[in-house]
Order: sequence, then structure tokens, then C-alpha cells
Amino acid sequence: MSDLNALFEAAKSVREKAYAPYSNFLVGAAFRTPDGSVFTGCNVENASYPVSVCAEGGAVSAMIAAGHREIEEAVVVGDAALCTPCGICRQRFAEFGADNLVVHIADLNGIKRSFTLEELLPAAFELEDRKD
Ligand SMILES: [Zn+2]
Repeated sequence: MSDLNALFEAAKSVREKAYAPYSNFLVGAAFRTPDGSVFTGCNVENASYPVSVCAEGGAVSAMIAAGHREIEEAVVVGDAALCTPCGICRQRFAEFGADNLVVHIADLNGIKRSFTLEELLPAAFELEDRKD
């Protein structure tokens, strides 16, 4: 199994754990860091909708909690024609994405399109000294 296929399978698997009783729209995300570590997240909804967290947000929290700071490759899986990250998650990628970050967008059958951060969020807001 290729590294990318393993990342897809990790995102697809964690998607099944999503808590989405209001939208029934399950999303899974898997990130690979430069050292090869993989972190996953799924969307978690709330009766108070703004409290909900996207799959990418959960994966960022898991990555940061484990002491990592940089996403080199990401797969987002949703049961949609093209489950691209929302605007907030694009900003998350701007904060933690490696210079060569690629975000792959998949449905349940496989990867459909791949994007660089520049394609997802041109002219992203970034602070010069944000990274340590
Ligand atoms: Zn999002």
C-alpha cells in the first residue's frame, strides 16, 4: 500500500467515527507530518451548530497535542462530489501547512483532486513569525 493510499484509508476509516446527527454529512481527515507520523480527525457536530468542529480541526488538534507543527500531506474524505475544506480549515492549513503541502480531496472511492495551499487559499493571512 502506498503512503498516499494509507493516508486515504486512514481518513476514510476515521470518517466512520464522525458525530454528525444533524447534517448526516460524515467527513474524515488524515494528515502526514514530515517525519511520517499520521494524525486523523472527524467532524463533531453540536446542537448549537457553531460549536461544531470540522474533521481537519480535529486532526490539527491531535497533531499539535502530539508535539507536531507541520502538515506535509493531507487527505479529506467526504461523501460529496468534491469535499473541499471550508474557509476556516483553509486558514488552518495556512497556519500549519508545509511549503510543499498538498491537500487531496476524496470521496469514498478514492482521491478526486489535489490542491496546493496557494490554490486553496491565495493570499492567505499569515504572521511572519508564526512558526517556531
Ligand atoms: Zn472546516
